[in-house]
Amino acid sequence: MKYVDLRSDTVTMPTDEMRQAIANAEVGDDVYGDDPTVNKLEKIAAEKVGKEAALFVPSGTFGNQLAILTHTKRGQEIIVGKDNHIVLHEVGASALIAGVQLRTLETKNGTMFPEDVLNAIRVDDIHEPETGLICLENAHGCGAVVSLEIMKEIKKIGEEHSIPVHLDGARIFNAALALGTDVKNIAASCDSVMFCLSKGLAAPSGSMLAGSKEFIHRARKYRKLLGGGMRQIGILAAAGIMALEKMTDRLKEDHENAKYLAKELSKIPGIKVINERLDINMVFFEMGEDIIKESELVEKLYEKNIKINGKEAGEYRFVAHVGISKEDIDYVIENIKALI
Ligand SMILES: *Cc1c(COP(=O)(O)O)cnc(C)c1O
Repeated sequence: MKYVDLRSDTVTMPTDEMRQAIANAEVGDDVYGDDPTVNKLEKIAAEKVGKEAALFVPSGTFGNQLAILTHTKRGQEIIVGKDNHIVLHEVGASALIAGVQLRTLETKNGTMFPEDVLNAIRVDDIHEPETGLICLENAHGCGAVVSLEIMKEIKKIGEEHSIPVHLDGARIFNAALALGTDVKNIAASCDSVMFCLSKGLAAPSGSMLAGSKEFIHRARKYRKLLGGGMRQIGILAAAGIMALEKMTDRLKEDHENAKYLAKELSKIPGIKVINERLDINMVFFEMGEDIIKESELVEKLYEKNIKINGKEAGEYRFVAHVGISKEDIDYVIENIKALI
């Protein structure tokens, strides 16, 4: 059964080329450093983002939490936007695993204000925790990108206070496309960066954590501690290499499709598309319960083989990806019109 699945770009399927690469992957025990395919992926990934080294991790959440654990000491505080993935969608892991507390700051379209970051840095006071890390997210999960200027400003603040900066770059390739720059220029404003191979890039699983040689060396040990020491994992790394080599350029189609979807949605009376957060492959919009009830929209579209999520914080989110064509979008629009 073919579904038009707009819930997320995490629903993307591995490409035929990936399946071929998986079948033919040369593998070894990666905990011994013996897996040539993983070693190749880690080298390619590090080069892509302009860092000395990279580490293959099972998921984006794993990569972020591993970065926090590696950068910080128990009892420290990390500065992070209040609507970052690390705050909202990682099950409170940073309190449980690294034992840090989160200092959450206001954001506008996913961007923290540099002066707030500066003001949030703790001073040397017997009552206060130490600030151990600053976390950024780009592209932000709200659909917007953070400008390079803001990133640089925050990095500079971090440097002046000897506080490292971690970037949650789950969708860093989408961010680079939207900002019209190379991913290296985004990653330059952080000490470590996590990015996903699994979302828009369509690998079945896996993310990368990149940073200095020394940082990745320490992270590798903590990855083992967390149970992320995987063995013949070249099987997955092979798909990851395809993701980095074959799937980044085509993301522009997803961005175009998202804009097309947004344009068509906004023609429907009662729908308000959030245009200021339309930088990547995600469309956020509001549609009141008076137009159609949320549960009804979800159910009725499902009957037409269209999968969507319910609202989050009052907004629907539709996500474009390699499995969504322009025709699929027309089909979705047609069905929404018919329903309301
Ligand atoms: C998806 C996502 C993650 C986590 O990735 P998982 O592989 O689902 O754990 C982290 N940050 C952002 C911004 C994401 O969108």
